Amino acid sequence: MLLQGKTAFITGASRGIGESIALAFAREGADIVVHYYAHKSDPEKNLRAEAETLAAKIRDMGRKAYLCGFDIGDREMVDAEIKKLLVEVTPNILINNAGITADNLAMRMKPEEWERVININLSGSFWVTQALMRPLMKNAGCIVNIASVIGQMGNIGQANYAASKAGLIGMTKSLARELASKKVRVNAIAPGFIETAMTHAMTDEARKGLMDIIPLKETGKPEDIANAALFLSSDMARYITGEVLKVNGGMYM
Ligand code: NAP
Repeated sequence: MLLQGKTAFITGASRGIGESIALAFAREGADIVVHYYAHKSDPEKNLRAEAETLAAKIRDMGRKAYLCGFDIGDREMVDAEIKKLLVEVTPNILINNAGITADNLAMRMKPEEWERVININLSGSFWVTQALMRPLMKNAGCIVNIASVIGQMGNIGQANYAASKAGLIGMTKSLARELASKKVRVNAIAPGFIETAMTHAMTDEARKGLMDIIPLKETGKPEDIANAALFLSSDMARYITGEVLKVNGGMYM
């Protein structure tokens, strides 16, 4: 059991890579805070049902599961909901996983497409990190930010997404330096092409284009990212901080 006695807060845990990380961590002994998207004016709609299903699976594995819903792009809501959660539980692992795309060629990109992606992927991860920083520092915790290969190599039509993920990598390295004296390790994972709802939305042509540049000639699975997150969050990585782990089938070296 690599994470026995730990509690992990995972953003965007209701599906995709986040869900896979939640299940892998619970299997290795961690209790899980399942974060799901909730809108301030309608918190009961949205993904609570999926989050509850995941929480039930985690409890069936003999772990504790807590639910925490907020829109990661809404700083006030992030602060308020995390404050409520901290009365109940003290996380010592944070996985900043929630993220979106809103692709468009730069010439056509609308201000709201730029701002929404930067706000959710980059600023939102920072708001959550800030809100959880005190407990993480008290517990010599660790942070894993889910960046992207696109933040390392860029991509046509993804200037906003690439900028947000490159920003996340810069944030990772700065926080790794800032929090090292408290023994908080901060690392990032840069996934390549992983099979989730995010990539299912791609056209066949875009898919083929990507497949052509993956030396291993196959897409990744959410479990591949979960395994990397598990390693970085465990004591096996106790001497690793400020690192960006590429999990991309060789797509970018
Ligand atoms: P996904 O299936 O689309 O899941 C994204 C998660 O983020 C969902 O749970 C989503 O909740 C949540 N989220 C989105 N906007 C939110 C908001 N405003 N507030 C709170 N939560 C929000 O995507 P995924 O493929 O698992 O991606 C997970 C992470 O990996 C992302 O950061 C993504 O950029 C990164 N990544 C993915 C790939 C890939 O190939 N799949 C590659 C590189 C990096 P809702 O369901 O409510 O929208």
